[in-house]
Amino acid sequence: MDFDFSPKVKELQERVSAFMDEHIYPNEERFDREVAQGDRWQPTKLIEELKPKAKEAGLWNLFLPESERGAGLTNLEYAPLCEIMGRVSWAPEVFNCSAPDTGNMEVLERYGKPEHKEKWLKPLLNGEIRSAFAMTEPAVASSDATNIEASIKRDGDEYVINGRKWWTSGIGDPRCKILIFMGKTDPSAPRHEQQSMILVPTDTKGITIERMLPVFGYDDAPHGHGEVNFENVRVPASNLLLGEGRGFEIAQGRLGPGRIHHCMRVIGVAERALERMCKRVKSRVAFGKPVAEQTVTLERIAEARASIDQARLLTLKAAYMMDTVGNKEARMEIAMIKVVAPNMALKVIDWAIQAHGAGGVTTDFGLAQAYAHARTLRLADGPDEVHRNQIGRLELRKYN
Ligand SMILES: Cc1cc2nc3c(=O)[nH]c(=O)nc-3n(C[C@H](O)[C@H](O)[C@H](O)COP(=O)(O)OP(=O)(O)OC[C@H]3O[C@@H](n4cnc5c(N)ncnc54)[C@H](O)[C@@H]3O)c2cc1C
Repeated sequence: MDFDFSPKVKELQERVSAFMDEHIYPNEERFDREVAQGDRWQPTKLIEELKPKAKEAGLWNLFLPESERGAGLTNLEYAPLCEIMGRVSWAPEVFNCSAPDTGNMEVLERYGKPEHKEKWLKPLLNGEIRSAFAMTEPAVASSDATNIEASIKRDGDEYVINGRKWWTSGIGDPRCKILIFMGKTDPSAPRHEQQSMILVPTDTKGITIERMLPVFGYDDAPHGHGEVNFENVRVPASNLLLGEGRGFEIAQGRLGPGRIHHCMRVIGVAERALERMCKRVKSRVAFGKPVAEQTVTLERIAEARASIDQARLLTLKAAYMMDTVGNKEARMEIAMIKVVAPNMALKVIDWAIQAHGAGGVTTDFGLAQAYAHARTLRLADGPDEVHRNQIGRLELRKYN
């Protein structure tokens, strides 16, 4: 087993890190300032300024494996780069590697028709527009996607869409031009063949954003998470992806890569929290010695280091399995990192907050927001319990 990254990956790690040093870290305050001033729901000038620079530096669309439209990296090669980008919440967008666009672009690449690719994938890959994924509904337990009730009904050469969604992430951004919408085309079909996915342009008549949802008080502007009503929304029948009743097939394909990116990024978040914690405890003196010298602090730093490295290795293994045996065969590893990575990050960020004292819960150190975000990852794309159930069932299957 070779634990080393290839020369190609090492070189890219250096280039992504250098870009972060030059353009991202020095601009963290500017990003916050820009969002705080004026209309929060407009894209920042900062990101639009930096995107061409990342493109020029050849650090663009690094996420898309097995496609000539991507950078030719495997999931395993992309993982350490995604981790570096994840160290700052808005940085992935600068490299056109942010959620939910990466997952949506993969769907369009794998399941879209040539005209979908031309109309939507091309501008997404160019960073000209953004996208959202509308599955979750307020009225039903959406962790079980068979519950999704929105209807997609054929009417001549169109489909008519009705339903209420929430947690449609990214809909707050005026550049969000396309939705991948999940709903039932045939409620009488077998349970896993009722759902379909369809492309819905955001400017279609009948779509109303009812409100933007806060995450522990953060609105995540200009991205945001919307509650959205769809009333008699009509789109061409050709907007349907793959075919009626094939929504689950697409969901399986989407949640593999999309979700593993979250894990990689949150490992970057945990690394940064540990870094901040170490710097802080070395510089603060309490009861006659630096906080760093308290044994409880050493214990937490040691545990954090070990936990981050464990989660990273498991994530890399999942990425390796996805590359070598495919997302389906890698489902145990994918489910494991979905549970392990966010829980690890929450533990590390919590210790970093504690080490900062009351400063840790302010917005001064980015830790409170990092905690809020990591906490959502125990729900977004499926709650922990659902993944644990799957891991448990797969483990028990060995004894059939
Ligand atoms: C920040 C954020 C962003 C999101 N972005 C998107 C997005 O872009 N698009 C989108 O469609 N959705 C998005 N979601 C929604 C997310 O996918 C759902 O919240 C998630 O699938 C869970 O569905 P639910 O909220 O309906 O919880 P429910 O299904 O009501 O589940 C509630 C709880 O029941 C328990 N539970 C459920 N099933 C089991 C089980 N089998 N065993 C044991 N316990 C169980 C769990 O504790 C679970 O948390 C986002 C959520 C958040 C917080």
